[in-house]
Amino acid sequence: MTLGKFSIGVGDRFAHQASAQLEACVLASKEGIDVIPVWNKSNREHLIIGSDPASTRAAAEVAVKALGWTKPWFCDADHINLGTVDRFLAPCDFYTIDVADYIGKPAEQFAIDAFTKRHSELVGTIRLAGTGQVIQITPALLSNTAAKFLFAVQEAGKIYRKIEAAKGKGNFIPEVSMDETDSAQTPAELLIILAAIADEGIPIQTIAPKFSGRFNKGVDYVGDVAQFGREMALDMAAIGYAVEHYGLPPNLKLSVHSGSDKFSIYPAIHASMQKFSAGVHLKTAGTTWLEEIIGLAESGGDGLALAKEIYAEAFAHRAELCAPYAAVIDIDPVKLPAPEAVAHWTSEQFTSALRHDPRSSAYNPSFRQLLHVGFKVAAMMGRRYLDLLEANESVIAKNVTENLYVRHIAPVFLGRQPEGK
Ligand SMILES: [Zn+2]
Repeated sequence: MTLGKFSIGVGDRFAHQASAQLEACVLASKEGIDVIPVWNKSNREHLIIGSDPASTRAAAEVAVKALGWTKPWFCDADHINLGTVDRFLAPCDFYTIDVADYIGKPAEQFAIDAFTKRHSELVGTIRLAGTGQVIQITPALLSNTAAKFLFAVQEAGKIYRKIEAAKGKGNFIPEVSMDETDSAQTPAELLIILAAIADEGIPIQTIAPKFSGRFNKGVDYVGDVAQFGREMALDMAAIGYAVEHYGLPPNLKLSVHSGSDKFSIYPAIHASMQKFSAGVHLKTAGTTWLEEIIGLAESGGDGLALAKEIYAEAFAHRAELCAPYAAVIDIDPVKLPAPEAVAHWTSEQFTSALRHDPRSSAYNPSFRQLLHVGFKVAAMMGRRYLDLLEANESVIAKNVTENLYVRHIAPVFLGRQPEGK
């Protein structure tokens, strides 16, 4: 099983938008670019919503059939570990093995010593093809990096082997993720980590490092865009080096988590892909749920009323809803409109505050981020929410497809900026 060069992680919190999401990939096909859809939903989201991983696959299957999609597609067990992987074994064929929690826990000294001895070739100056740059790895950097990451890679190996035992070698796509941690990994660290992953025998096809800058949920990148661009180029070159020297799969590529809505870095991602003939896996989970709310609000009537109610509930429970996402949101409480005021908003006022159009003066990133983490409110509404999704399907689907295609797939994979930018 091989993941294509370009792929997009499409999260679908309530398993109702798979067709609308797949339609965005169909639009890319019409432009001559294959963007492979990967339906991802993390254990955390399944727990919050009370859904089962099999439901994600079932919804995707319906969409694939309805649209006559004949290219590959996958279901991603997103951010799983040894304790949570079990119920993802049957329905998934892509595994995001999350070992961020193990970073910094030291491996046994003999393992660290053996690793640094085995990889003495990494010490010195490494020329990264295509970058015009070198990375310097000192003996201290090599052993410190091993001390920091080797245990996490060993854990990844345990999880990988559990999945392999259940599914069979080559029957799934393994990813290792280290993004949900405090500090970014440098390209030199990434190269050392990849050497360790190769030693561990994990044939990863995607790797999710933590990049510098902030990747807040559902809003634009916050950080130094030029530095991000340089880092991404070095990361891609380091991956190329690791594939060549350590026998990792030739399609190994970066996975950009919380990748939705990072409009300001999409040109840099596209440029690096062009330069290195590299691919990228772009994860865009929560952005689709926000398009559901936009579609409901745009529909007016009961849809708009429900969107307002979801906001009011999210506002009332904002501390509790934000807690699990504290590290990946940046809400300015002063900028949150009072629910009493929102109650009088028109469809246009609601959608323009929520829709991610950086050029619009009405766009409110705090409002958007609170709703981003507020999907639990809709989950608790149960059928009432789902019935309105179904009643307003065409308006919602249009927003879901357009958001994924125009704002994400076109700029990242086709190098095309949304109009007016
Ligand atoms: Zn992630």
